Amino acid sequence: MRIMIDPGHGMDNRRRGIYDPGAVANHGGTRHEEATLNLEVATKLHDALRAAGHTVKMSRTRTRETCGLRRRLEIASAMSAELVVSIHHNADPIPGDDEPDGRVKGFQVLHGPNQASEKLARAVTAAVGEGRRVRVVTARSNLYVLRYRFSILIEMGFIDDPEDFVLLTDPAWVDQVVSVVADVITSYETESNDAS
Ligand SMILES: [Zn+2]
Repeated sequence: MRIMIDPGHGMDNRRRGIYDPGAVANHGGTRHEEATLNLEVATKLHDALRAAGHTVKMSRTRTRETCGLRRRLEIASAMSAELVVSIHHNADPIPGDDEPDGRVKGFQVLHGPNQASEKLARAVTAAVGEGRRVRVVTARSNLYVLRYRFSILIEMGFIDDPEDFVLLTDPAWVDQVVSVVADVITSYETESNDAS
């Protein structure tokens, strides 16, 4: 399958000349930016999908690489991508009371407004979900990359939540999630081929 992996945020994301760090959190006096974490996870997913035989491209491969939102879908179209996977990390700057400790946490997959994307989002969530709080969410129309005909957006977890942060910065956990996601995408493709 031809797949475009999109590490969310970064240079020129929303406005030309402006670096968009995405969600930001402080842990132990160190500032952590979503755009950087996205790039790390996306690179791992790129490698895993490539190893599984897919043709994979990334919308950006470096921290300061220029990549506006529109450009991301142009890259996908240019390679005739059959799937777009955007990688993000969440934050909940105003903790509410919907969680026992007042903090939102967990893994989340958003999908474009069509059945194929929803089916893949559900499959990824189910596979990663073991023992974690997970959600499948239909995309809001303001999520630009999810306008692509077959697309999912993975929110790895909440970088401002202390529990999630431990997982998100544990290379073993990230590798595990990446390998599960790559497996789900690969078996999704096999299933689709069998059906046609
Ligand atoms: Zn984001």
